[in-house]
Amino acid sequence: MRLLQFDVIVVGAGLAGLVATNEIARSGKKVLLLDQEGEQSIGGQAWWSFGGLFLVDSKEQRAMGVKDSLELAWQDWIGTATYDRPDEDYWGRKWAERYVEFAYEEKRPWLREKNVRFFPVVGWAERGGYLADGHGNSVPRFHITWGTGPGLVTPFVHELNELIAQGLVTFKGRHQADGLIKKGHAITGVYGSVLAPTNVRRGEDSNREVIGEFSYEAEVVVVATGGIGGNLDLIRKNWPKRLGNPPKTMVSGVPKHVDGRMLYITEEMAGANIVNRDRMWHYTEGLKNWNPIWSKHGIRILPGPSSMWFDAEGNRFPTPNFPGFDTLGTLETIMKTGYDYSWFVLTKDIIESEFALSGSEQNPDLTEKSFGKLFQRVLPGAPGPIQAFLDYGEDFVMAETIDSLVIEMNKLVGEKRIDIDHMRRQVEMRDREVMNKFNKDLQITAMHGARFYLGDKLIRAVKPHRLLDPKHGPLIAVRLNILSRKTLGGLETNLSGQVLRPDGTSIDGLYAVGEVCGFGGGGLHGYRSLEGTFLGGCLFTGKQTGNAVAEALR
Ligand SMILES: Cc1cc2nc3c(=O)[nH]c(=O)nc-3n(C[C@H](O)[C@H](O)[C@H](O)COP(=O)(O)OP(=O)(O)OC[C@H]3O[C@@H](n4cnc5c(N)ncnc54)[C@H](O)[C@@H]3O)c2cc1C
Repeated sequence: MRLLQFDVIVVGAGLAGLVATNEIARSGKKVLLLDQEGEQSIGGQAWWSFGGLFLVDSKEQRAMGVKDSLELAWQDWIGTATYDRPDEDYWGRKWAERYVEFAYEEKRPWLREKNVRFFPVVGWAERGGYLADGHGNSVPRFHITWGTGPGLVTPFVHELNELIAQGLVTFKGRHQADGLIKKGHAITGVYGSVLAPTNVRRGEDSNREVIGEFSYEAEVVVVATGGIGGNLDLIRKNWPKRLGNPPKTMVSGVPKHVDGRMLYITEEMAGANIVNRDRMWHYTEGLKNWNPIWSKHGIRILPGPSSMWFDAEGNRFPTPNFPGFDTLGTLETIMKTGYDYSWFVLTKDIIESEFALSGSEQNPDLTEKSFGKLFQRVLPGAPGPIQAFLDYGEDFVMAETIDSLVIEMNKLVGEKRIDIDHMRRQVEMRDREVMNKFNKDLQITAMHGARFYLGDKLIRAVKPHRLLDPKHGPLIAVRLNILSRKTLGGLETNLSGQVLRPDGTSIDGLYAVGEVCGFGGGGLHGYRSLEGTFLGGCLFTGKQTGNAVAEALR
């Protein structure tokens, strides 16, 4: 065992770890960056992400006719977070106040300086469906990075490589942290296992064969190891009662290395306080990936507003469980049905305009920055990745009539769970309402409302039509699985990113950034997210904490 001296050790080379490493190293301090995966996985989850970022009152919003403001964004944030735990929410709320200001002022110019650019059509995620003080984005705020996740990560990797070349950063892949070194009350280093080399492709499950051990000391350790979304057992263990029973069947929206191990090691070995363990952010529109990269790989549909949404027995969900309105509200509604899945029923026209898939590899046009491929989105026909799911995905069925569609849906689950007449009646009733712009079906009102927004009208919200009009067919049903993704709680940190003990005191030498600390404070989001706030939380905690560490070591 060789003992090396570094000023700082950062554990985890995801987006948050990269930003923190770069900020610290640019101040002249020597950083050791460790990751249990190989060099091919640098960037962690962010590489796979859609690159959606929450920005407030941006140039892109204004160009699309959106009037946003700091006040409106904070109103939405508070209505969404619904902080109700005076102790556990204390630091998360403080981080949130700063973060929304960051998204309003500094985030866009800072990223542009790093050569990050945005797709001009701003998306409208989490639309809410309640009153002005309730959950959701009042206006479109989901800015898609030009180049998706890789477009966001690459500038930080370039910067890292420059710092490595200058001798300020040392990167060691296949170094799995197993524990923290403690001297007195302070954390002074990290030890762990050197894992066998691997040549798996980025994101694939890698081996855990131990071929050695390591131990390094430094003045500061920054934990940047992500959440628990790849560990379905841990998710079930921490599943909140308010969302019903944990799903027995789930697909995984994150690579296997998002294992949550270091979160609990930090709790046990450093005496760190984990808060808001029961807060998490999983999706209800998960598809089993026909072409998986990691175990149980699921892909999330980013739906437009028009698909009808039914439970496993074919009952339409009550308002406001519309596609893209309230992720956790719908998750709760689904879990109360006693089944782990639900159904979208839609037409070919809806799938062609309204379905997008989350993930860099599912959006080759945006990821490769290809205008030619992008243009194909406005041509008739489903985009390539959606067509591939229609052709090979096990969750899709198609038919010319509603009766035969229900027969196919029942065949897929192996049981006559849905009554044909019941389903037909509900679709017919909805179709009667669609003929007028004024009607009593709030989903149809929302569909018309979406088309007032130019961005939706252009590429996201199809002209309302009757589902049973064969002109728009065939009919399609999609079985939607629960898809694991984000951890909203985590290590409690103060505004410098220092990890806190249960008594509120900070642990000397120990900091945390990104998803492992609930994107700031142990729960920046409270109960829910406005979307695009996870990558943003990694950028912000990485930057703030990196600066605080550099300052503390000055
Ligand atoms: C498909 C997909 C789409 C997404 N889309 C969006 C989006 O559009 N907008 C948005 O805001 N968010 C999105 N997200 C979420 C966002 O990408 C993540 O929340 C964020 O990237 C987490 O970054 P992180 O650095 O905190 O953790 P991670 O990216 O998980 O990185 C942690 C790193 O730590 C390493 N590690 C863990 N434990 C150890 C250990 N013991 N020793 C050594 N190394 C360890 C891991 O190998 C990993 O490299 C998406 C995520 C996915 C997967």
